[in-house]
Amino acid sequence: GAAAALVLAACGGEGAGGSSSGNEGSAPEDLTIGVSMPTQTSERWIADGENVQEQLEELGYEVDLQYAGDDIPTQSQQVDQMITQGADVLIIAAIDGTALSSQLQAAADAGIPVISYDRLIRDSENVDFYVTFDNFAVGVAQAESLVEGLGEGGPFNIELFAGSLDDNNAFFFFEGAMSVLQPLIDDGTLVVKSGQTDIEQVATLRWQQETAQKRMEDLLTSTYNDGSRVDGVLSPYDGLSRGIITALQNAGYGPTTDGGAQPMPIVTGQDAEIASVKLIADSVQYSTIFKDTRDLAEQAVIAAEAFLDGDEPEANNTEDYDNGVKVVPSFLLPVETVTADNIQTALVDSGYWTAEEVESGQ
Ligand code: BGC
Repeated sequence: GAAAALVLAACGGEGAGGSSSGNEGSAPEDLTIGVSMPTQTSERWIADGENVQEQLEELGYEVDLQYAGDDIPTQSQQVDQMITQGADVLIIAAIDGTALSSQLQAAADAGIPVISYDRLIRDSENVDFYVTFDNFAVGVAQAESLVEGLGEGGPFNIELFAGSLDDNNAFFFFEGAMSVLQPLIDDGTLVVKSGQTDIEQVATLRWQQETAQKRMEDLLTSTYNDGSRVDGVLSPYDGLSRGIITALQNAGYGPTTDGGAQPMPIVTGQDAEIASVKLIADSVQYSTIFKDTRDLAEQAVIAAEAFLDGDEPEANNTEDYDNGVKVVPSFLLPVETVTADNIQTALVDSGYWTAEEVESGQ
């Protein structure tokens, strides 16, 4: 595979994304797919890596799966190594969407197609395809569930959290959410009491749980030290939600045996992580957004196969994902809101989690 790819590049072939990968006719076992994942601290990326690997191996491909421990130089180095070791396709979920340009140039020079996985790789023309979920819809769904959880009436005090600014998805989630929340902020139904409504003010570097917990603690001791209460929190990811919930619980929110506590605010999330699914079942966290990583893995595999066959993968969106250099043809998957009401149908019946896992939270 690598040899063929190099020959293609040397002949001035079109390289990645061109009409031919140079691999047509190669047996799957002679082809290696490099899979670069950001971190193992979040269970979704572990599942993503395993699902992609399993599905590719079932088809006979060799898989080189690497996790980068949320460290940008580590990821760059792992991708470099995949290229020098002759990967035939790369599937990459970037830590920092702008940090892989030189690796991607090397991949293009070697004729290796690059599939951006879940997170868009930015500022490079050498991104050939993008498989993801409808990220704007994620934000819309988070905000809608926040509003639904708050119920009728108001004004309600809310606080906003966003993800990591080096992750393109963080902007889509936040913009989707604000498309629902801004009109309600404007008409006074919702009050962001801290006044922090810009994504830069509410972002969470590397999606770290402790960072979100700390910010929530700071908000509680500053903005809410006058006896007012926070009614809802927009959180873009379950890990952050659990940090936020811990801060709230430490400040006296949530049920106590004497029934004296303030009710837990409505807290949203994303990823249907098992610890959060349990919190939702226990009415501590209000909602999460389920993104079936098995389906995303499948789309990545379909795209990889298309490239290996010398074809272009089929996109269902060619408009929304401009990476700063070009609009990357994308395949978007749908998302589903999960609250206590549909844990069974959405997560258990689909085989994503077992009833025992939901029961125990692990
Ligand atoms: C993913 C989310 C995830 C977040 C933190 C985003 O890029 O789309 O599913 O919650 O990263 O890992």
